[in-house]
Amino acid sequence: MKNIEQKVKKTLEKMKLSQKDKILVAMSGGKDSSVTAYLLKKFGYNIEGFHIDLGMGSYSKRCLEAVKKLCKQLDIKLHIYNIKKEMGSSMCYIRSGIQHEKKGLKNCAICGVIKKWIMNREARKLHFKYIATGHNLDDETQTFLMNILKGSPQLSANSGIITRNVKDKKFITRIKPLFYVAENDIRKYSKKMKLPVVYERCPCALDSYRIQMRQFTNSLTTKEKENIMKNFDILFPLIQKLKTEEGLKYCEICGEPSRNNICKMCQLVRVRKNR
Ligand code: AMP
Ligand code: ZN
Repeated sequence: MKNIEQKVKKTLEKMKLSQKDKILVAMSGGKDSSVTAYLLKKFGYNIEGFHIDLGMGSYSKRCLEAVKKLCKQLDIKLHIYNIKKEMGSSMCYIRSGIQHEKKGLKNCAICGVIKKWIMNREARKLHFKYIATGHNLDDETQTFLMNILKGSPQLSANSGIITRNVKDKKFITRIKPLFYVAENDIRKYSKKMKLPVVYERCPCALDSYRIQMRQFTNSLTTKEKENIMKNFDILFPLIQKLKTEEGLKYCEICGEPSRNNICKMCQLVRVRKNR
């Protein structure tokens, strides 16, 4: 258990954050982001919680309850974004509407774009310097391998423990304190600390390619996963050089930072331009 704490501490030290900087922890109610919040608080960082209520029936209700309980235990403020209230319908509805027009788009890909867009905008509105997510060693190994198998290592250029290379006043830097911690160790730690957590996966997580990749990474030892990510660390400077695109622009529709004239979110959903 000490091992996990030391790993996270070391990762955080590498980021060179100040303990005063405001960090918004994106808390889904799952074990990874709950352990992220727990450890950041334990190490004395200035955190608050952020939860997107996706409005997906009893699963979402249990996630919200778990997040509320943990924030109370940690004595941190919780910001809740209710997608039904803010966007008019639940994630399931928004997603099936998109999939009706754009066939073949995966559930997790759509949900991921929408969640990232919301997180960046809300964290900026609330004046946070960082957004912390619960991405772990298994997630990162899968993503790195998927990008390699696609023949596009440059897609990993914005990965890493901190998004240092994206500099824009409207883009909130993202950090991943659990980047080097294996999923199994996080599960054990969260059970040992008796954190209020929803252990089941999201009922809509049907991204077949990632599931395939997860089956593969589940067959690896922690050491092997660490070794894969050692390759990532060594190759990272080279991968960054492969990036061809210019810096960030602002989306013509919503005004959010984007790599293209229209951001990924607005390519999926029409949103009002404000802020
Ligand atoms: P996922 O894309 O579901 O694997 O989630 C990646 C990370 O995004 C999690 O570790 C959380 O930090 C964050 N996250 C996912 N879902 C939510 C949510 N509903 N509310 C707030 N943060 C979330
Ligand atoms: Zn946009």
